[in-house]
Amino acid sequence: MARHMTPEEFRNNGYQIVDWIARYMEEVENYPILSRVDAGEIAARMPASAPEQPETFDTLIADLDRVVMPGITHWQSPNWFAYFPANTSPPSILAEFAAAGLGVQGMLWSTSPAATEVESRVLDWLVDMLALPESWKSTGPGGGVIQMSASDATHAALVVARHRRRGDASAEDMVVYVSDQAHSSIEKGCTVAGIGHCRKIATDSEFALDADRLESQIVEDLAAGLLPIAVVSAVGTTATTAVDPVRAIDAVAKRHMMWHHVDAAYAGTAMVCPEFRPFQDGVELVDSYTFNPHKWMMVNFDCNVLWVADRAPLIDTMSILPPYLRNEASDSGAVIDYRDWHVPLGRRFRALKLWWVIRSYGVEGIRSFVRSHVLLANDLAARIEADDRFEITAPHPFALVCFAHTDGNDATRDLAEALNDSGDVAVTPSVIGERWFIRVSIGQTYTERSHVDYLWELIDRLA
Ligand SMILES: *Cc1c(COP(=O)(O)O)cnc(C)c1O
Repeated sequence: MARHMTPEEFRNNGYQIVDWIARYMEEVENYPILSRVDAGEIAARMPASAPEQPETFDTLIADLDRVVMPGITHWQSPNWFAYFPANTSPPSILAEFAAAGLGVQGMLWSTSPAATEVESRVLDWLVDMLALPESWKSTGPGGGVIQMSASDATHAALVVARHRRRGDASAEDMVVYVSDQAHSSIEKGCTVAGIGHCRKIATDSEFALDADRLESQIVEDLAAGLLPIAVVSAVGTTATTAVDPVRAIDAVAKRHMMWHHVDAAYAGTAMVCPEFRPFQDGVELVDSYTFNPHKWMMVNFDCNVLWVADRAPLIDTMSILPPYLRNEASDSGAVIDYRDWHVPLGRRFRALKLWWVIRSYGVEGIRSFVRSHVLLANDLAARIEADDRFEITAPHPFALVCFAHTDGNDATRDLAEALNDSGDVAVTPSVIGERWFIRVSIGQTYTERSHVDYLWELIDRLA
């Protein structure tokens, strides 16, 4: 017989794990930020096979410290400047806990109406918060849906783009266009969707897609008998947060009847502040748009949002109705069944953490959170710019600063390595073409001026 924790034991163990997390929050800043274990070292601390007999919760918690912690890279340290942030926040963590407790499967409206309706309502809030088109709300022809990742959302959009044109060409002859700075998820999405060609268009001096080059490539592909089906614009590329000209690209997309998808995975969060909205100029024209609250909006991974301007082609592509999923509410057409909005059938109640974060901070709180990071990034960039040893290598519209050592690639890579070896901070070395640079992404939930000041001290000392 399986022996379950009693509710009383669960309560006590739950308090213990909350204490454990709270202590981690208090101490995370002091840990060496990058895990230094060798490959296989963590696995070697575990027995080769599963225990036959039940173990106590105390031993599980003890092994969190003994087995797991040495292999943790501390993304939640305020000294985290690597990649992009993968924010958490207290209300988000607690919402994850509550959602796990409810344990609902929100695949259909009828399998937990609250999971669907909270999601629709919160995504409608977000449309207003980010100044996206009113018609993208669940009350209009469009709508939003939470997915696991921007990669999934983009994949879904590409599948819709392919499905729409299925009568016109075989998938192998279809072409999707992106800039040479686009995220790898788009090429992967093409591969998974069986789309034959993913064309990378050369970018301009600021790493943005050039609409004229896009047009000439399309003309060339049409002449070769291929079928252009979609273009993906980036509002904030991963390497440098470059912004593609959405409006100009949309004119090209419309001319060739292509689906236009916008990838704002990181920078979408910034649109909560009106001063950043010029960067999404033209967004009201596009077919779909995705961004990640799980990067810079204090919502735990996973929480991505995909909006479509018209939900009909998405549902037409994704909807399959086996008899065991039929029900009165769905048949009435009066409700949303999110399983028809993405590849997976089952889905967690992820809207809860988004809802709790927005309510806990308020829109104004999220605005000042974003502004504080952008201000710190601008100040750091000014210090870097004023120092002859360094050079800023890309515009920094948001909170990512890219810079290089003026002594060249080796000096840049050495500096990145020295910073990471210090154990006190994490940054990401990267390369475009032949040029190495260091990405400093400011956006961890608790990063403040003191942390960026210390980073600058280290850069100054180790350069
Ligand atoms: C991070 C990022 C992605 C991928 O996000 P996932 O949610 O991890 O799939 C896609 N596009 C851009 C521009 C990104 O910065």
